[in-house]
Formats: sequence, C-alpha cells, structure tokens
Amino acid sequence: MAGDAALILIVEDEPPIRRLLRTTLGAHDYRTVEAATGAEALSALRHHRPDLVLLDLGLPDIDGLALIARIREHGPVPIVVLSSRGDEAAKVTALDSGADDYVTKPFGAEELMARLRAALRHRLQEQGAERGFTSGELSVDLVRRLVRRGAEDVKLSPKEYDILEQLVIHAGKVLTHKHLLREVWRNESVDPQYLRVYVRQLRQKIEADPSAPRHVLTEPGIGYRLV
Ligand code: CA
Repeated sequence: MAGDAALILIVEDEPPIRRLLRTTLGAHDYRTVEAATGAEALSALRHHRPDLVLLDLGLPDIDGLALIARIREHGPVPIVVLSSRGDEAAKVTALDSGADDYVTKPFGAEELMARLRAALRHRLQEQGAERGFTSGELSVDLVRRLVRRGAEDVKLSPKEYDILEQLVIHAGKVLTHKHLLREVWRNESVDPQYLRVYVRQLRQKIEADPSAPRHVLTEPGIGYRLV
C-alpha cells in the first residue's frame, strides 16, 4: 500500500514549516523525506529518487534558483516552489528555471494538495503525451486541432490556437509570459501586452463568461493557467 504513495522530498530549512509540511502530506497519504539544506536535498535526490520536490527558495547554503538547476541535472522530477507573498519576480524566475509550479506562504493545505496533484498528474501526462483536454463545456483535441464549446466548433486564429495548445499541453500548470512568448511567438522579448490581447480574444471564444474566466486563469504578474 505505502509503496504506491508518491514520495515527496521536502526541502525547507525552518523546522516548524518542515513539520507542518510533513504532517499535512502524511495526512494525505504521501510519503515524505526531508532536507534542511541544498546539499541534503541533492543527496536525498540521489538516494531516494522522490516523485516530486517541494522546495523552499530561501535556503542557508545555496541559492534556490541554483538548486533548481542542479535538480534539473538529475532528471525531470517535478519541482513545486514555496515562495513568499509578493515575490512575483522570484516565482517567475523559478518557473523559467525549470520549476513546475509554486505555492505562496502562508499556504492552505487544500491549495498545496491541489498544486502537488497537478504537478504529479502533469508529469504523467507528459510521459503519456496526452493530446486533449476536456473540462465542463470546453473540449480540445490537439491531434485533430478541434476546439469545441458544448456542441459548437470554435474557430481560433493560429496564435489563439497556439496559446491554447500550450495551455493544454501543460494543463493545470502555470505558464509564464516568457514561456508563452517563446513557444508561440518564438521570441521572448515580444511585449507581453500582445499576449494579453490574444488571451482576451481566446477567452471571448472559449469562456461562457469572458469577464469571469473559468478555464484560462490569470496568475497576476506571472502568466496563465488552464484549469
Ligand atoms: Ca527558508
């Protein structure tokens, strides 16, 4: 039984937060292993091969962003970053450095669990190369390039489709402006304002109420997430 539970590596230097994470994850049937420093984290990564790394960016011995790069050298294990409220720049840099998602401290257990589930599921999707997305009235078939809302076909411009395709490939995960500009415009230095314009048009076509989107969500200062 326990062998089926995902193993989460908790990297956090503050004992009370580490304890809170261990208790919360344990209560949701995850197995945990803990590290208080970057060096311990890299050692635990080699010895325990966790399914996911939950990473505090403020560690005593190594910069959190440098640690993300070191973890990435080990392979594609999902990384969810714990970051401070208001530190949007650090979140964006962490995501662009290879983190999968972030949770802002202080976090609620439900939010944390949702982020972990999404990151674990996303990794499985990548391995299985899932080529579609269905939620409520919206369905997207990336193989046939079909988008439907209810029974109706939705016609998207090439850019709108490319944005939606990225969101579907990474469903549940926040994509930074830079990621979308790189993948859709092939140019990270394009003004994010263009992206905003196309996302607004995309919402007009796929959201029941474009002013209160339920699928393409804005992560202020960071990017977009499909749910
Ligand atoms: Ca810390």
